[in-house]
Amino acid sequence: MKPWTAQWYANVPARVKVIVRLPVLKTPVSNEPSSAVAEWLAVSPIVQVTESPTLIVTNDGSKRRSATITVALAPATATESAMASAATSAATANARRDAAIRSRVMTTDPFLALGRDAAALGLHLTDAQRAACARYAAELVEATKTVNLTAITEPADIAVKHFLDSFTAYAARAWTGHERLVDVGSGAGFPGLALRIALPGISVTAVEATGKKARAIERFRELLVLERVAVENARAEELARTPAHRARYDVATARALGSLGLCVELCFPFLRVGGDAVVWKGRIDAELPGAKKALSALGGEIVAVVPTSSLGLAEELPGRQLVVMRKARATPDRYPRTPAEMKRRPW
Ligand code: SAH
Repeated sequence: MKPWTAQWYANVPARVKVIVRLPVLKTPVSNEPSSAVAEWLAVSPIVQVTESPTLIVTNDGSKRRSATITVALAPATATESAMASAATSAATANARRDAAIRSRVMTTDPFLALGRDAAALGLHLTDAQRAACARYAAELVEATKTVNLTAITEPADIAVKHFLDSFTAYAARAWTGHERLVDVGSGAGFPGLALRIALPGISVTAVEATGKKARAIERFRELLVLERVAVENARAEELARTPAHRARYDVATARALGSLGLCVELCFPFLRVGGDAVVWKGRIDAELPGAKKALSALGGEIVAVVPTSSLGLAEELPGRQLVVMRKARATPDRYPRTPAEMKRRPW
């Protein structure tokens, strides 16, 4: 029988011992009655409650609070209606407590947390934008069952490692909010589509060589009803040679595409002079000399290296940095080279 129903209340023996696992964990034991017990006392004049708190020290050293609660019921003289009403009150109190627990659970919703983390980067997401991210994440998890799109499948991890990671670009350069952005090697749409959700005024071209992935991005675009998103199932080396795409973009992004030098070669041909390439990286020391050679050949310079720690995200996104490079002059026609040439002579 469900506790706190009138039926349950009418049938319990005169004195019962109820072990209650209190909703608040990791609090020190005190002699104050817990809020749950205080709630019972407040709503039910015919119930006397004594609580003996216990402290449980768990394996990981954290302290949890538990309590044995003795509930003394009123003597048999209490009328049925008084008992019923007390039970109802107790049920109400219980429902209130459940609601409080539910609301606590809701505040740990990874996409609410994403909203807070994005705001700390200066990017203020509306409820609709957060909902779009959550929907995207759910669709991504579903799509990954048939196409290998991501190794990350927990919503909380997707919120941080895909969305928040994509949003760090917002803090790494000054945005007008109307950029034409090309995302090179977009995979499942990161960072390109994520940035399009967060910055609705930009237009995005997602370039992805693998057909299945390009089709997945198209599906996400339809499901999320995102305008000004083009998907190009092509190799960047070839697309960047077409007049519709060469030197046409304000921003080029690349995450997990390859070495910094390779990213320069694949991103710069798409940029107009004055445009920025933003590349997501771990350690860059070993790749810097090659990247500098590539930059001098393709016409750019590093304008900022922004570690996630400088954005207050050392814990969430450890050891990551954004490399922002600006195009200072036109890229010679010989770049990008063919994939075979790039492989033969890496930067
Ligand atoms: N940017 C995504 C995907 C990274 S994996 C993310 O960070 O989650 C790299 C992706 O780039 C792969 O999907 C691969 O198919 C694509 N890719 C690699 N070289 C490419 C090229 N030359 N042109 C277009 N896409 C390329």
